[in-house]
Amino acid sequence: MNRCRYCGKEIRGTSDFCGQSCETYYQEAVEKDRRKIPYFIVGMGVGFLVLLCGVLLQIDWVLGAGIAFMGLVTFILPFTTPETTALLGYQKAKILGRVLGVLLIGVGIWLAR
Ligand SMILES: [Zn+2]
Repeated sequence: MNRCRYCGKEIRGTSDFCGQSCETYYQEAVEKDRRKIPYFIVGMGVGFLVLLCGVLLQIDWVLGAGIAFMGLVTFILPFTTPETTALLGYQKAKILGRVLGVLLIGVGIWLAR
């Protein structure tokens, strides 16, 4: 079963999209994402460094802050992988990314208590 790569609707045949509008939206969204990738990488790098400091110094709230920061980056810039996009469609993959971001923030705050 094929699914529209943008909205996730099931489609017959070998097409990647259910219609021309979804294909256009998808390409615009992917292009916008592509330009944000450097921010995502920097944000994740900063979060990871903070996390690493927390681990090395054994300070729980620093570790929690690092995880929460990475969650925040994931929430603001929820990048979709080709796998999740193929499985769920672009829109649902974005929502999933946001949910994961919120979960990470929750874990970070929980660790930082
Ligand atoms: Zn569609």
